[in-house]
Amino acid sequence: MISTKAYAAPSAKRSLQPYQLERRDPRPDDIVIEVAFCGICHSDIHTARGEWGPTSYPCVPGHEIVGKVIATGKKVAGFKIGDLAGVGCFVDSCGRCPSCKRSDEQFCKKHTAYTYNSTEMDGQTPTQGGYATHIVVREKYTHHIKKGVPLDRVAPLLCAGITTYSPLKRYKVGKGHRVGVVGLGGLGHMAVKIAKALGAHVTVFSTSPKKERDARRLGASEFVISSDPHYFESLTGTLDLILDTVSAKHDFTPYLATLKNDSTMVLLGAAPEPSELLASSLIMGRKRLAGSLIGGLRETQEMLDFCFRKKIYCDVEVIPASQINEAYERTIKGDVKYRFVIDATTF
Ligand code: NAP
Ligand code: ZN
Repeated sequence: MISTKAYAAPSAKRSLQPYQLERRDPRPDDIVIEVAFCGICHSDIHTARGEWGPTSYPCVPGHEIVGKVIATGKKVAGFKIGDLAGVGCFVDSCGRCPSCKRSDEQFCKKHTAYTYNSTEMDGQTPTQGGYATHIVVREKYTHHIKKGVPLDRVAPLLCAGITTYSPLKRYKVGKGHRVGVVGLGGLGHMAVKIAKALGAHVTVFSTSPKKERDARRLGASEFVISSDPHYFESLTGTLDLILDTVSAKHDFTPYLATLKNDSTMVLLGAAPEPSELLASSLIMGRKRLAGSLIGGLRETQEMLDFCFRKKIYCDVEVIPASQINEAYERTIKGDVKYRFVIDATTF
């Protein structure tokens, strides 16, 4: 077993604390990664605090992981010691069902082993995430990270990057498309950068007036303060696609009004509470409200290679592990530019 220092949530109500865990010895198709950086996603917070339903404690969150390969199982062909690897939101799946065959492993019919608060394919062994010095993962469920890229700024691509890239590709965003991004946090700032790189005209909807300058620097052409739907009026019927990244309950109706007919608003933010929806906000204009969950293995590698080619990296604040709890509080307040990333040498 590989003795690993980590940080874990001991219960929904208590802050994260130093924690020791044992990673398995590498099986023939495993790689052992010495974690360099792990991003703090709002999903980590929802899970650590039990906001999405029961969490299995102690819980080591973290699914935006990059690091160096320090050992490989004997059947590993794609990585050698010293290579860089990334791990996102899941670490295993059946590999045989229709979803896995399409590389939609996040929707495996049998079981998707999420990176934390889940179980391995045996349905029993708890998975523990990337707020840790090491992680052991099947080679197939890891990603290749190019040498020379800024690893701290690459880590959040493994969740925030793929979660926003996937719907932008699915809805074929390209030159001249008008894309709305709701919420300028970890996901939102990557949505702006990637949509802009695809040629879109980006409008940010934010509750934080002080983020306007950043939104424009990140690539937005327009910035709308979302606290008053009155500000949306000039945008009625203008947008081709909206990505909603808000982490708390809010009203979808004013955003739907800004869509063109037959266009789609994609929910990415996973507020723990349900929202109400007036049917006519979709009926009028034949609009669609959709969702999207991260992306599969193939698309995640495609996103990474796209970002490496275009030099699209996350805007991060690197912190030592001892500041994780403070980072949670600041993330909830929207006070992060735009992703906290833990330096794994500080566990
Ligand atoms: P984040 O960094 O905290 O960003 C969320 C942003 O939402 C905030 O910066 C804020 O932006 C806005 N916001 C927060 N509370 C709000 C409220 N009460 N009303 C209106 N706006 C509010 O979080 P994140 O890591 O980007 O994650 C966002 C959400 O996506 C979370 O629910 C997370 O669990 C979910 N998620 C989903 C997937 C998926 O696959 N679908 C993947 C990863 C994360 P402004 O200051 O600009 O208003
Ligand atoms: Zn995430």
